[in-house]
Amino acid sequence: MTRKEVTHLIKQKAIEIGFSKAGVTTAEPFDEAADRFEAWVARGAHGVMQWMERDHEKRRDVRNILPGAKSILSLALNYYQDYQDEGDDHLKISRYAWGTDYHEIIPPMLRELLAEIQKLVPEAEGRYYTDTGPLLEKTIAERAGVGWQGKHTNLITRELGSWVFLAEIILTIELEPDPPAEDLCGTCTRCLDACPTDALTPYEIDATRCISYLTIELKPEHKIPESLAPKMDGWIYGCDICQDVCPWNRFSEPSGIAEFAPREENLHLTHEEIERMDQEEFSRRFRKSPVKRTKLAGLKRNSDL
Ligand code: SF4
Ligand code: SF4
Repeated sequence: MTRKEVTHLIKQKAIEIGFSKAGVTTAEPFDEAADRFEAWVARGAHGVMQWMERDHEKRRDVRNILPGAKSILSLALNYYQDYQDEGDDHLKISRYAWGTDYHEIIPPMLRELLAEIQKLVPEAEGRYYTDTGPLLEKTIAERAGVGWQGKHTNLITRELGSWVFLAEIILTIELEPDPPAEDLCGTCTRCLDACPTDALTPYEIDATRCISYLTIELKPEHKIPESLAPKMDGWIYGCDICQDVCPWNRFSEPSGIAEFAPREENLHLTHEEIERMDQEEFSRRFRKSPVKRTKLAGLKRNSDL
């Protein structure tokens, strides 16, 4: 089989397994993006996310993760749900966290895909990740033609918009690379205009001002800065504002993964309900949900604003 044929079969398998889009890039270093990322961290824009201060050499060059790596398969999985969380009578959770955590769903899919790749090419070695390792996931996806990083810094696919999770398989075999994706933001500035905390400058985010960071990454014992607290707009876990206003999300299609569907009982949370919630109830309602990450104490802190 030619390199092109193997690449085609691998992408086909990825779609059969349930991924929404697949692209390929080489394992060459990501020097430009790594320079930008390291400068961003040096400015402190990553806040308390200390893992971002480590493993720079792996982010820059995946061959420091898997010696002999030749290619990276970049995958996107659509998680959009056909439900609009409207009205301001309740607290809001980011769409990605309405159902089961993608860390529960995607790794078995990646394991299966790697096994299929190894059936096709037995000598192939691979390492897979989905937000679980030191990779510049959005940069990889961009170079693999899966989508471009919008001015809000999320990855946007032409076909599905930005409601996608990203995953990668680093491989020791040569595959046919795709051309990089083109930036299609044009003159639009909707995300920049809509962000309530002014966390965005085009193509860059100050995480320490972003509601997602403040509600998820900031430990429960830390207070949300007084200057930002009044701007949280009812978000208690993540924030979707910059993606909700993006014109590329107008044509999103519902995800085929049933586990991402919203859990009815968590869709209209009120401050009083969270105030009353004990650990047992929190653990039951958010079992295998990303919301567990903020812990009950974090959710109470966020809903107190
Ligand atoms: S997620 Fe919300 S706070 Fe963060 S950049 Fe987007 S609009 Fe701003
Ligand atoms: S809202 Fe406009 S500028 Fe922002 S990411 Fe979407 S297309 Fe790009």
